[in-house]
Amino acid sequence: MSILHAIGNWLYSFFGIGGTGSHYGFWSGTGSDIGELTIVGAVIVGLRHMNCHDTGCWRIGLHKVDGTPYKACRKHHPVLSKQPRITAEIMAKAHEEVQAQRRADSARIQEIHQQVTGQQVTGSTPSS
Ligand SMILES: [Zn+2]
Repeated sequence: MSILHAIGNWLYSFFGIGGTGSHYGFWSGTGSDIGELTIVGAVIVGLRHMNCHDTGCWRIGLHKVDGTPYKACRKHHPVLSKQPRITAEIMAKAHEEVQAQRRADSARIQEIHQQVTGQQVTGSTPSS
């Protein structure tokens, strides 16, 4: 019997692969939870890696602090924490301001085009 064969037999018995052995009860019972504990540990390590760098804060740190290697949650970020929360009304107002500016720019461009060419520009269809 070679030494590798002996080691294989010992592992076969230790892990209870054949359904027998001194540790079969452990590996088929409590020992089978080791894999689940590994998953739980990986989740905890992942959360600790992603959370806010403020000590004791468990929020996810999504926002980089400019000029530093730190990430912070919205509550602890030095800039975002001082700004109001974005709401649908704020987004609608910003959208309307951009659209109004674009309409004004378009009107101004048409006015300049009319002055240069003396032609009336109608709509957005390209003229040939
Ligand atoms: Zn935080």
